[in-house]
Amino acid sequence: MRYLLLVFLLITTQIEAQNNDQKQINEIYNTALTNGSGYAWLNYLSNQIGGRLSGSLQAQKAVDYTKKILDSMGLDRVWLQPVRVPKWVRGTPEFAYIESDPGLTNNVPICALGGSVATPLGGIKAGVVEVQGIEGLKVLGKEKIQGKIVFFNKAMDPTNIDTYMSYSGSVDQRYAGANEAAKYGAVGVIVRSLNLRLDDFPHTGAMSYGDTPMESRIPAAAISTNGAELLSATLKLNPDINFFFRQNCKMLPDVDSYNVIGEIKGSTYPNEILVVGGHLDSWDLGDGSHDDGAGCVQSMEVLRLLKATGYKPKRTIRVVLFMNEENGLRGGTEYAEQASKNNEKHIFALESDAGGFTPRGFSFDCNQANFKQIESWKSLFEPYLVHLFVKGGSGADIGPLKNDNIVLAGLRPDSQRYFDHHHSANDTFAHVNKRELELGAASMASLVYLFDQYGIK
Ligand SMILES: [Zn+2]
Repeated sequence: MRYLLLVFLLITTQIEAQNNDQKQINEIYNTALTNGSGYAWLNYLSNQIGGRLSGSLQAQKAVDYTKKILDSMGLDRVWLQPVRVPKWVRGTPEFAYIESDPGLTNNVPICALGGSVATPLGGIKAGVVEVQGIEGLKVLGKEKIQGKIVFFNKAMDPTNIDTYMSYSGSVDQRYAGANEAAKYGAVGVIVRSLNLRLDDFPHTGAMSYGDTPMESRIPAAAISTNGAELLSATLKLNPDINFFFRQNCKMLPDVDSYNVIGEIKGSTYPNEILVVGGHLDSWDLGDGSHDDGAGCVQSMEVLRLLKATGYKPKRTIRVVLFMNEENGLRGGTEYAEQASKNNEKHIFALESDAGGFTPRGFSFDCNQANFKQIESWKSLFEPYLVHLFVKGGSGADIGPLKNDNIVLAGLRPDSQRYFDHHHSANDTFAHVNKRELELGAASMASLVYLFDQYGIK
């Protein structure tokens, strides 16, 4: 009898907790959808400040603006965490054309890849060889590549439903293509934009020369997908065409910048820290609305939503707007270094850096015991259609926090349109849908709420 009573009590407590969770989550979504702030913040960040490449004036303006917003939210503490960042500048607009016969040219849209060196002042004109990814270099060999521009034309695989898989499958030619092609004597590289559709936007992104000395570095640019198709078709008609491109980007010395941080102190376990964040820097071609202005305002909105619904966290909840994800990850690295230096105990970190599209769920980087607990919350997200809970990656900026006693997670929005915008002039505020953005913020706040309630295993 006594045993039965205990079981009954246990079950009613569980049901009560489940009801409370449902209620709190419902309130979070309702508040986000009726009284959200993220969209207006993103409007300012995108349209009043714009692209925020590390070390730029706009990046500093974004630091000042987001700090001002956090200051106005009544948090327990708001501060700037200093971090040295690289400063690469694009210079004047790039210029390129295909020369199919002497004097017969077609202009094509290109942009320098982030971190690339400039071409000589008057540009480079040379013959072109097309390869499918880095593996293609070996196939051609030094003899055919020497003195030429290498055209990396491996397209993103359209058959993956998760478009990030397609991105991962082709991004090495952008990141390492120039460094590898230089070993075969190439004088420059042109890389097909990482974009699943055909259009006229070149997409930039980080590239690296590794330890290659300055004098052996060759310039690298991305070409729009339409441009890549044209170049490839022209080469098929006549392999002896020339390609011309000119860019005057350069790397300047490192400069001072900041991560922007705010927190609500926990009432019961103030030493257990939950982080939610995105990256404040962006590429310079668009205004960085999807990548990652959306993630920044959603992360700020998480703390605002918890406060607005009257929720008092047991644990410390911190928003971190990381600087320099795109071309250095210095902000994420510095944050983790400081956390370890100060013996801070982070139990959960969530990043939104996959665009401000309709949220589908989350991916988790954690042990099996924690994943089991997380899966038990899945039904709470079903009414909002945000219940794709998978094991996998989280986010670049929170990656350095990884250890055995933390759960890392990433918001997973629908990815079908992300690469239409990613790192291009097409990443602008007009392409962010207010409700989709708000649903993302509410989903994140709900997950943070659950980790605050139950901690980790
Ligand atoms: Zn990003």
